[in-house]
Amino acid sequence: MFDLAKYTKELSELFESSDNILLISHINPDGDAIGSQLGLYQYLTFKGKKVEMICPNNLQEFLKWMEGSGEIKVFIRQRKECIRIIGSSDLIILVDFNQPNRLGEAEKYVMDSKAVKVIIDHHLAPHDFANLLISDPTVCSTSELVHEIITIMNGKPFFNKPYSEAIYVGIITDTGNFEHGVYTGRTFRIAADLLESGIEKEKILNLVYNNFSADRMQLLGFALYRRMTILSNYKTAYIYLTRNDLSEFNHVKGDTEGFVNLPLSIRGINFSVLFIEKENFVKLSFRSKGNFPANEFASKYFSGGGHLNASGGEYYDSLENTIAFFLKVLEENVDQLKMGV
Ligand code: 5GP
Ligand code: MN
Repeated sequence: MFDLAKYTKELSELFESSDNILLISHINPDGDAIGSQLGLYQYLTFKGKKVEMICPNNLQEFLKWMEGSGEIKVFIRQRKECIRIIGSSDLIILVDFNQPNRLGEAEKYVMDSKAVKVIIDHHLAPHDFANLLISDPTVCSTSELVHEIITIMNGKPFFNKPYSEAIYVGIITDTGNFEHGVYTGRTFRIAADLLESGIEKEKILNLVYNNFSADRMQLLGFALYRRMTILSNYKTAYIYLTRNDLSEFNHVKGDTEGFVNLPLSIRGINFSVLFIEKENFVKLSFRSKGNFPANEFASKYFSGGGHLNASGGEYYDSLENTIAFFLKVLEENVDQLKMGV
């Protein structure tokens, strides 16, 4: 953990001196984006601050139960209102991302705004577009970082039920319920404090993980049975889903969440890739075990990024050509892939 106190003093002063604070999470928000956004929201509103929240696009079902999530304005749905809020904010806090393009259609308005901008994030290689950057890639989640920051600013840990639930959701979703990612003993200590503050772990697990449709379950079965290829020589497995596949299973946003993790549980597989065909591009998700840098692979070949073991990117071509390109660049990395655990 780096020296957070250096940053929290400045952040406290910014909170103190700002009348209109705006918290923004990233496009296609995950549990950590919404968890860190709502955690900050609960703390700041408790302290009597006026706070608005914006997300570039819709929240998925498994996040909508969280208290305060109904207060998050969705940019693509409430454009005018969001543009007005961005324009009248004097402090904008950007959580769980570090590249302006993760703001989606809100990017231009946020970048043009005169507000002081602060990034709170845990991804590698931050872009330089904020006045204050609080970035710690050694923590498992932005939510954990937010909790550390609030603990320092508040002089002691802050808890209330919606806050604790938000931070807990961020931590479990970015670690696959403590399975992967860079969680530490400190993460468990924070999780323990959150649990002891009175949240119901089982209720949260059910709302976050056991909240799928039957269609999604069948799409998963289909993806594993019909659309997965194992490339033993590369210790790699990949799954693709066409637009037709998705519509056959009445796909809704978020249904393919988690699919990419599953091939990693096959013996000998260290790298897993999911291709999702979109209207005019292909969205890719990468997961790796051990040292293979999924983030470098994503940024070098697929205009993306992320973490060492979990990353994503995009490719503007047909699904067929994307897979062909992927197989070509996989070959360039064969030595490193073979070396892996
Ligand atoms: P997922 O595969 O769950 O969509 O994304 C895993 C991680 O990869 C995310 O937490 C995010 O850090 C990163 N990521 C996913 N898609 C993109 C992308 O298009 N660009 C960048 N820079 N990072 C991405
Ligand atoms: Mn995160």
